[in-house]
Amino acid sequence: MTRVLFTTSELYPLVKTGGLADVSGSLPAALKTAGVDVRILLPGYPAAMSQARQQSATSLPSLQVGQYEVTLWEIRLPETRVPVWLVDCPPMFDRSGSLYHNPEGHEWWDNAHRFALFARVAVLLATGSAGTDWIPDLVHCNDWQSGLIPVWLATLPQAPATVFTIHNLAYQGLFDHDTFRALGLPDSLWHWERLEFHGMLSFIKGGLVYSDRITTVSPGYAREIQTPEFGYGLDDLLRHRREHLSGILNGIDTDVWNPATDRLIAKRFKSGQWNKKALCKRSLLRETGLTNDNGEAPLIGFIGRLVEQKGVDWLLEVMPGWLEKGCRFVILGSGEQHYEEPLQRLAEAWPGRVSVTFGYDEALSHRITAGCDALVMPSRFEPCGLNQLYSLRYGTVPIVHRVGGLADTVLDPEEAGPDQANGFCFSSPGAAGLNESLGRALAAFSDKPYWQRLQANGMARDFSWTRSARDYQLLYQSILPDHVSDRLYPPYGGKHHA
Ligand code: ADP
Repeated sequence: MTRVLFTTSELYPLVKTGGLADVSGSLPAALKTAGVDVRILLPGYPAAMSQARQQSATSLPSLQVGQYEVTLWEIRLPETRVPVWLVDCPPMFDRSGSLYHNPEGHEWWDNAHRFALFARVAVLLATGSAGTDWIPDLVHCNDWQSGLIPVWLATLPQAPATVFTIHNLAYQGLFDHDTFRALGLPDSLWHWERLEFHGMLSFIKGGLVYSDRITTVSPGYAREIQTPEFGYGLDDLLRHRREHLSGILNGIDTDVWNPATDRLIAKRFKSGQWNKKALCKRSLLRETGLTNDNGEAPLIGFIGRLVEQKGVDWLLEVMPGWLEKGCRFVILGSGEQHYEEPLQRLAEAWPGRVSVTFGYDEALSHRITAGCDALVMPSRFEPCGLNQLYSLRYGTVPIVHRVGGLADTVLDPEEAGPDQANGFCFSSPGAAGLNESLGRALAAFSDKPYWQRLQANGMARDFSWTRSARDYQLLYQSILPDHVSDRLYPPYGGKHHA
């Protein structure tokens, strides 16, 4: 049985800031069901350690990692059989504030040290030096926080194979040269073909240069990141590694996101039970203080981080026009103040038509997903995107920018047949494109049988993890026999000596 160590800085339901947590909370369980012996490695943040106490977890003997004493606690991922090892190092991870930011919202000053320590522990585990009798055949690393793991493993002759998954190329883990020195990385790595990136240390380059395989979370995004427009300066490296780069679409947790069993929504429903979905809409309108208009006015939702990536500025530009026509909007998000303020002003200018909730609210996100007619995702780029998958499953028609995973999953009637079409896409970035697709969507909304067909098509799609897990398993199998001889990628990377 293939043994995989899955290293992640977020894990639903313990700690989450974004989609990485959802993937980490679902993919390992699906891999386990498919016969992979998978274990997760996660920093011992306070929420994770409190779970360890609840589960009366047992610990392994302590490790000395540089100046720090580290204890590994073994718990189970709630509701699954997947073991999770928590890297308990209180000076690094026992902090209030968020995972990567202090309570003032600034990045923790020592993030490089925190995730270098995390990587060191992964390397000890991966090489059998952590006192465990379980040694992985492969380490599956995720995002920049895991970026140094393939780097250090590449120096070791008997190291396991490595897969590095990009969940969002925009977050790269960039630090200055002093940090590079303080981490004790060898000078040979300060090179543009290795870890140096425009005068900075790049953690993500560690993963991109030194891992055996690179994946990202949709085929569309795998293609896009090889272009200057979406490559964040790394497109050249990614093109160089294109034979080792692939996209595997994320699944969703179909138990947590199931309109037929969801206890967080007003009325549970299946495809075709549109009267029950209408009750969800009515209840959401009431909860958010929006006027009902006999349920006839279209209700459009937005859930997500209020950052440039998500196209909030485009949405702000088009909302007034649609509000005048009677649309209702319900917005849930948290993020940058220069988006929160104009949203707040819109809500004040349009009482009964716009509801905004700032903050993170899992339960409300379920009720919005269930109660809206349509969900808008005008992201500038979107590696996979989860909200459109959730909304498809809840018969809520997505309206999206045709990028990344959105383009792979939302099928517009202009390109897909009547049995396939499930949403609306716009291709040209900007408010005009969004406006045009909103116009087409709202015209379709007034034709009930047609709209219901779109809803039913979306609800019929299978976005379970089973399919994605099989693709990852095939990928693992494809590298295990030959990964060691495969390690050199001239002119990028190559083995270095510590
Ligand atoms: P990203 O990882 O870029 O934030 P994704 O669509 O991949 O975007 O995943 C975001 C996840 O976080 C989804 O599960 C979404 O429902 C959830 N989410 C984002 N913002 C909020 C919020 N304010 N309240 C509740 N859930 C949220």
